[in-house]
Formats: sequence, C-alpha cells, structure tokens
Amino acid sequence: MTGLNGQRMDANVVVLGTDNVGKSALIVRFLTRRFIGEYGDIESLYTHNVVVDGREQTLNIWDAPYSQQDLSSESLMYEKRVQWANGFVLVYSVCDRASFNAVSRLIQIIKTNKDILGFEKMPIVIVGNKRDLDHRRTVLSEEGRLLALSADCQFYEVSAAENYHSVLMVFHGLVHCIRESRVSVKKLAGIKGIVKSMSAVFTRRRTDSL
Ligand code: GDP
Ligand code: MG
Repeated sequence: MTGLNGQRMDANVVVLGTDNVGKSALIVRFLTRRFIGEYGDIESLYTHNVVVDGREQTLNIWDAPYSQQDLSSESLMYEKRVQWANGFVLVYSVCDRASFNAVSRLIQIIKTNKDILGFEKMPIVIVGNKRDLDHRRTVLSEEGRLLALSADCQFYEVSAAENYHSVLMVFHGLVHCIRESRVSVKKLAGIKGIVKSMSAVFTRRRTDSL
C-alpha cells in the first residue's frame, strides 16, 4: 500500500491462539501455499507481499508461540505485541473448546489495551481451523460466527491442512479491515484538525475584539 506522499505502508499482523491450533500451519500455508505437517515451536517474524484489490500490501507477520502469560493483560510481552500490531488473527481449533474460550479472552485483552491507546476499532479476524476434522468437532460454526458478531470482528472457518484459498481469504479480510481502520483514523484526525483550526479562529476573534 502506498501512502498519500508515495511512501510504502506496511501492516503488522500478530497471529495468536493456544498451542496446537494450527497458527504456524496457517501462516506457512499463506506464505508458501503448502502444508508441511509439523512446524516446531520457533518464534518467527515473516514479511510477505500481497496484492489486495489491485494494491500491493506488505505484511509483517509475527508467529508467536503461546504462553499462559498471554492471557494476562499485565504481561509485558503481551503489551508489546498489542502495541506493535495493526491487526490480529485469532486462531482456535474447531475440535478444541478450550482454544475457543481462549480466543474470547484474547479479544477482551486486545480491546482493553487498544482502548487505552485510543484506537477506535481494532482489526481482528477470528479463525476456526481444522474444519477437515468435522467428526471431532466440539465448537459449532454458529458459535464462532456469534462470537465474531458480538465482538465486531470477521470470521472464517478454514482447514490449513486441506485448503489454500480459505487461508488466503483470512489474510485478505484482515488487510481490508486494516485499510478501513486507517481511513477512519485519518478521517478522525481530519475532523480534529478542522475543530482545532476553527477554535483557533474563534479564539483569535475573541481576543481581537477585546
Ligand atoms: P500452533 O502450535 O498453533 O502453531 O500449531 P501448528 O501449526 O504447529 O499445528 C499443530 C498440529 O496441528 C500439527 O500437527 C499440524 O499438522 C496440525 N494441523 C494444523 N492445521 C491443521 C488442519 O487444518 N487440519 C488438521 N487435521 N491438522 C492441522
Ligand atoms: Mg506454532
């Protein structure tokens, strides 16, 4: 994406969720179109270019291993991630109820942190992964959809193991959200600017007439 002054605009994306839900599988599928099976536990930061709606977008994607501390809003590590991020992909497995509950808690923590930082709406995409394991499903699609609706996020059910296209949709969806949020931040800044200059004019007039 290119800014008004021609400079490139990157977007920072953090992928979060409990262990074993397929965070690394999802990212590797997006980057390479492949599913390898085993990914290890290495923390990684990837940079990847995508074209969304005809415009190029550079994404910095942080694959961070899960730690219990993540669910504590006081965790310094967590604060760092939230501050760095322009958008989040929150992953659970449709066969793991606890991972779904963790996503609800993560949404709360992100919203609280971002409210403190003064953001209006945080781009978040919720992903229910492993939909190929339908026979082991413990979280219904409707539950995921409802959570996304109540938290004002996007929602996708995917299988990193079986399908590239739906994984691509996740990241495209997030890029849309990030672009929208940047436009609304700019609009807000514009309105604030107008209010400022108007109040400057009025203050000057008042002092002129004294
Ligand atoms: P992470 O800990 O969240 O990064 O999870 P990984 O990406 O390492 O995946 C954990 C395990 O789930 C691995 O054995 C993957 O092969 C498997 N896995 C990941 N995505 C899928 C999926 O969509 N379907 C199935 N059946 N297995 C998956
Ligand atoms: Mg991983």
